[in-house]
Amino acid sequence: MRTGPKKRSGRRAGPIRTCLGCRRKLAHGASIRLVAGPDGAVLPDLTGRLPGRGARLCPDPACIRRALETGALRRALEANLRPPPWEELLETLRAAQERQARSILGAAGSGGFLVTGHDAVRRRLNGGGLALLLLAPDAGEALRREMLELCKLRTVPWRELTVGLALPSRAEHRPFAVGGILHRGLARSLATHLDNWKRLLSSPEDRGKRPAAAVDSTRSHRG
Ligand SMILES: [Zn+2]
Repeated sequence: MRTGPKKRSGRRAGPIRTCLGCRRKLAHGASIRLVAGPDGAVLPDLTGRLPGRGARLCPDPACIRRALETGALRRALEANLRPPPWEELLETLRAAQERQARSILGAAGSGGFLVTGHDAVRRRLNGGGLALLLLAPDAGEALRREMLELCKLRTVPWRELTVGLALPSRAEHRPFAVGGILHRGLARSLATHLDNWKRLLSSPEDRGKRPAAAVDSTRSHRG
């Protein structure tokens, strides 16, 4: 043997781009693409399918603010862009990110790729079929510990659901506290969108204003 085997990353790395706000390099999934609409409006393109020149940003309120206030977004997209105030763009992006996460979770459910409840999830974790574990924010400590231990053992990634996004519920019951995605592509996509959404929601730049979706009024309701 002359040399060891060639190093291959195994998965496609994708193009590396730069954030318009902080100028740091971005991995493809961990960024938000913006395009200019025909009327000069700024449109989020979370699926990467909208035509036209795109600009990329970290899903971070500070980067969104900087890209707008320095004029970098206007320069990157086009001269007749009508950029909104940064707070407005942030809300638009949060809402779009939420819709995207919700739709992936819905697609997993209707496609039969979502399992819910302790027993079903545990079975899939042990059987090797789980691509992503999902925990509700109010999952009990014992359940959380058990599930995370199993994830570690089986090297299954996990995410906590952002408040406002719930697993399905049985009739007359609260939503399930634990669930899992069986489809690898959906799992990867959901994890990315949950990460981006959480980052958009939880930045220190956020001055206490939270979108309606982040307020969960159902959990304390009794009866
Ligand atoms: Zn950035």
